[in-house]
Amino acid sequence: MYYVCKESGEDGSFCSRCYDESLKLVRMHDLGNGFQCPIHTNIFLQIHEQEEQSEEVLW
Ligand SMILES: [Zn+2]
Repeated sequence: MYYVCKESGEDGSFCSRCYDESLKLVRMHDLGNGFQCPIHTNIFLQIHEQEEQSEEVLW
């Protein structure tokens, strides 16, 4: 998975494999819970960082 934030305002998730192989930035389809490369048809599941939840209770 390859995230790009450009100065042109174009940002999104691109297939890193496409970029490595052909230096192409292929925008992946947003599946909601992941992204799919239209060329490799690979599905990159979105991994949510575990949010640290404080269990501390202050009385
Ligand atoms: Zn690809």
